[in-house]
Amino acid sequence: MATKYVFVTGGVTSSLGKGIVCASLGRLLTARGLKVTIQKLDPYINVDPGTMNPYEHGEVYVTDDGAETDLDLGHYERFIDLPTSQRNNVTTGRIYFDVITKERKGAYLGRTVQVVPHITDEIKSKVLGLGESGDYDVVIVEIGGTVGDIEGLPYVEAVRQLRYDVGRKNTCCIHLTLVPFLKAAGELKTKPTQHSVKTLLEIGLQPDILVCRAEVPLEAGIRRKIAQFCNVDLEDVIASIDARSIYEVPLMMQEEGLDTRVIEKLGLECGPADLRNWIPFVDAVVKPDRTVDIALVGKYVEHHDAYMSIVEAFIHAGAVNRAKVNLRWVQSDDLDDRNVAKTLEGVQGILVAPGFGGRGISGKLAAVRHARTNGIPFFGICLGMQCAVIEFARTVCGLDGANSTEFDESGPHPVIDIMAEQKTVTDKGGTMRLGAYTCDLAEGSRARAAYGETRISERHRHRYEFNDNYRARLEAGGLRITGLNPDRGLVEIVEIPEHPWFVGVQFHPELKSTVTRPHPLFVGFVRAALKTLDA
Ligand code: GLN
Repeated sequence: MATKYVFVTGGVTSSLGKGIVCASLGRLLTARGLKVTIQKLDPYINVDPGTMNPYEHGEVYVTDDGAETDLDLGHYERFIDLPTSQRNNVTTGRIYFDVITKERKGAYLGRTVQVVPHITDEIKSKVLGLGESGDYDVVIVEIGGTVGDIEGLPYVEAVRQLRYDVGRKNTCCIHLTLVPFLKAAGELKTKPTQHSVKTLLEIGLQPDILVCRAEVPLEAGIRRKIAQFCNVDLEDVIASIDARSIYEVPLMMQEEGLDTRVIEKLGLECGPADLRNWIPFVDAVVKPDRTVDIALVGKYVEHHDAYMSIVEAFIHAGAVNRAKVNLRWVQSDDLDDRNVAKTLEGVQGILVAPGFGGRGISGKLAAVRHARTNGIPFFGICLGMQCAVIEFARTVCGLDGANSTEFDESGPHPVIDIMAEQKTVTDKGGTMRLGAYTCDLAEGSRARAAYGETRISERHRHRYEFNDNYRARLEAGGLRITGLNPDRGLVEIVEIPEHPWFVGVQFHPELKSTVTRPHPLFVGFVRAALKTLDA
């Protein structure tokens, strides 16, 4: 069977949840036994989001192969439970970079290099590259931005051409649009959808299926009107009503027949969807038996997207225990030793988040200290782990002025130091320690108990690391090193054995938590937090 392509565009406004619709369709097709991957085409000119700040872009999602990518790839992995890679995220910056690099090498010698055909050809080759790998039955391609954006034009043109290149019957175009409810008129309005489909038609694409975001159900009359004015069949008007949880969307899309419509149009051969694991999971998410309060201490807390994968990992881990994790968002800038007890009063667990730069560090150290000295379950991720080490060095081992060289280059005790290979790096893009590395877990550790394995692989994104010169002193003080990189001996996990649950990890476990495989450390942490409720 030839690889099939589903292209997903968005109209009217951004933030309609295109990524979730793609991920949901991916889930439904996967549940029918098809091999599916999802690619995101981003129209911005950064080569990747790695250099953008979290306010600008939200979380940077890191793949096993070390690509710094759009956070939608996180949704793809969480929903379809297959790893993505560098190939799954393409930006205009990357496209131009590759075209210009080729031009300098003489690949287009004698010719004028133009948006059409050179940029569009490069886009097409990135899409086809995934399809031609032979690994997938279906490639879903999400086109970032909103139809009508100037910067999105080359992508739509590439899709228009691809429909003919690979054969119409091998492609399907879905357009996600908004059907707003006007309170004053007391009705749903279809005009914005009509306009956005017209815009799409002007640039050469006729959508096959319309997914209509609305706050209230679309009755038959509205569906008929949309079908008639947008040239689609009535059953190709799919309603997407606000969901209680993003994980409910695949079930809602199935009920609306999105997967059946796509299968029919593409002539896909597959069985019925097996959602045996999904349904009880969603049930546990929307109808939890109890709640547990966990503080998330970080400096981007006004912007929850910056911690997207952590939030989702807590939903997965909560569901395992039929519990809802209520996150208390705590701004590390505002935290100090005097107000920490009050601010964190009543939480059953404290997570200190990843991050870059010195802002908010003293607040994070106060949060670590509060968790450590009061026996509150603690989970430190990346910078959070580094803060745990600094706090322990200062308070327990008496190493005054212990710090990371990221915040204090000439301090007396650099317990966290820049990695040797990072010292000479001057470029900012894609130069951190990125992607999957193996880690060996120590016997009798909490990490080993949680994973139930001796060797694991986790994803990284950092420049600094635990300074081995301080290892003996910190261990003598009672900090246990329970995770080591087997190749280079880098410290990846620290724990305090006497504490009810105190774990710091240099990697990002949140990036690997999926619905079908909730991350063991998040599950362990939530369980420890729930235990304090039972005590
Ligand atoms: N800023 C720290 C480092 O580069 C931690 C990075 C992170 O939390 N992702 O090592």
